[in-house]
Amino acid sequence: MYAIAQRNAQNPRTLCISLTTGLCLGVTSTSRPLSNKPSEPSFRRRWFIYLRNCYGNSTCWTPQFSLPTLPWAENALDPVISANTISFHYGKHHKTYVDNLNKFAAGTEFADMPLEKIVNATAGKVDKTSIFNNAAQAWNHTFYWRCLRPKGGGEPPASLKQKIEAAFGSVDACKKEFSATASAEFGSGWAWLVMDGNTLRIVKTNNAETPITQALKPLLAIDVWEHAYYLDYQNRRVDHVNAVIEKLLNWEFAAQNAV
Ligand code: MN
Repeated sequence: MYAIAQRNAQNPRTLCISLTTGLCLGVTSTSRPLSNKPSEPSFRRRWFIYLRNCYGNSTCWTPQFSLPTLPWAENALDPVISANTISFHYGKHHKTYVDNLNKFAAGTEFADMPLEKIVNATAGKVDKTSIFNNAAQAWNHTFYWRCLRPKGGGEPPASLKQKIEAAFGSVDACKKEFSATASAEFGSGWAWLVMDGNTLRIVKTNNAETPITQALKPLLAIDVWEHAYYLDYQNRRVDHVNAVIEKLLNWEFAAQNAV
């Protein structure tokens, strides 16, 4: 198998890099000549790195995964979560997970896979830890932002409230367990309200771990990595968690997930 660098007939300044299988690897808008080097260890990866080194990600390659837009302005959750925290949490931490995922997935079997499928395909595999961590964190954060909203908290919609009362006794008992679980997570991780079959449960996961690999359906998530609260609350994780539960949780989003 070898690569073909062809000039695009419509646009002579465009080179299309293809495998002999006809799979397009990337398009670059330059007339700089590219040589056809054999692959080692992976042909696609080598071409990707070659192109990236020559031209940078933005000009020669459309990364498969992109940072999703936040569902609200960066200062919308202030003062519970400051714009400063969101700017680092979303703009640096979440972005880095997405960037790393693109780097690790390029030229591998994961390059064309949907995010959830990558998370499930790499979970628990020691040789896939890097790609799992970044894929799972990309998924977790995209989900997490939607769990929060300005003027959130309060009462869940009736359909969800019924399920909560059936599982926990009351909405208050559910919130207490959510808070206790989030606060008790040792080190970095997440607390989740999930559907387990027909019932609701609160669970926690360590580091990048996510309930979607455990046949659980997440309804809500609270990020308890220090980067989620340290700028605003320093070591007071419990205060952060309780403020999120009382003032930011998006119960409507949870109800949508519970159907
Ligand atoms: Mn986070």
